[in-house]
Amino acid sequence: MAEVLVLVDHVDGTVRKTTSELLTIARRLGEPSAVFIGSGFDAAKDTLARFGAEKVYRVEGPEVTQYLVVPQAELLARLVEEKSPAAVLVSSSTEGKEVAARLAIKTGSGLITDAVDVQAADGGVQTTQSVFAGSYTVEATVTRGTPVIAVKPNSATPEEAQAAAADEAVDFTPSDAAKGATITDTKPKAASGRPELTEAAIVVSGGRGTGGDFSPVEAFADALGAAVGASRAAVDAGWYPHSSQVGQTGKQVSPQLYVACGISGAIQHRAGMQTSKTIIAVNKDNEAPIFELVDFGVVGDLFNVLPQATDAVEAA
Ligand code: FAD
Repeated sequence: MAEVLVLVDHVDGTVRKTTSELLTIARRLGEPSAVFIGSGFDAAKDTLARFGAEKVYRVEGPEVTQYLVVPQAELLARLVEEKSPAAVLVSSSTEGKEVAARLAIKTGSGLITDAVDVQAADGGVQTTQSVFAGSYTVEATVTRGTPVIAVKPNSATPEEAQAAAADEAVDFTPSDAAKGATITDTKPKAASGRPELTEAAIVVSGGRGTGGDFSPVEAFADALGAAVGASRAAVDAGWYPHSSQVGQTGKQVSPQLYVACGISGAIQHRAGMQTSKTIIAVNKDNEAPIFELVDFGVVGDLFNVLPQATDAVEAA
């Protein structure tokens, strides 16, 4: 069975959920082999094995991670040449998409970004791709080279399948050209204890309707184990950090459940969340455009609705 390479998304060995999703998808296409770059492999190994990685190609140390993404693409291109995998899967994050694009160019392969479904088909790979900020979905197949596919977080439910995760240290030194930009400083984000916005299964977002008081939004999010997002109006007002903005000029999220609280549903906000599987809105204006998009709508004041919803979830 052909290998399927999965680029591991991790922070010092803590593997992000998106990688378990990619490993689950990889098993539909062939035999998953994880590609681990950076430090903390010992911490990552169990998770990679649990979600089905038969092999792990490992490059530890700063040789690759002290530079921006080019060395990662170079390493993957070398593995593609040596292993002839059936496909390469990466997370469709900003960084993942850049790695994928560079890899596709290096290997002369077709590239699909923002895939929301990936299946094996007729000896190849069939994808469903979300395009124009989620306004359309497109069925797409790579017809040249090794399919390089960037998959959106939450496109699959991670399924466990214990495997060996037999690791192989790869001797790799980036070319001088790949060392063009060096990371000089990294500032960790202040820990909120909540899941990462782009990979959370549930996102609760607040907008101008909060009037700047996000406490009911945060309490509801915490009851659900959700990430907190915000509309640009809320972010521009300084009520919530820019890193939490959902939308065309913010983050694109695609959770199982998105709850929009006090958000009108402007097209630029929709662009960041309309591929969510289930959408709920809480808005006191029953004509707010967000209600055109939702699966469930609550017409009411979020300061009344959210505390009740929080109590109900906590009591359940
Ligand atoms: P509003 O449109 O003011 O809506 C507030 C809503 O809250 C209303 O529907 C109101 O009925 C409701 N409400 C008020 N009080 C309550 C209450 N107590 N309880 C319940 N409901 C209440 N926006 C984004 O979000 N993300 C982007 O990435 C983005 N990018 C943009 C890029 C460009 C180029 C441009 C031009 C705009 C962009 N915008 C973006 C802005 C976008 O057009 C809207 O202005 C913005 O989304 C509005 O935010 P809002 O829904 O929070 O505010």
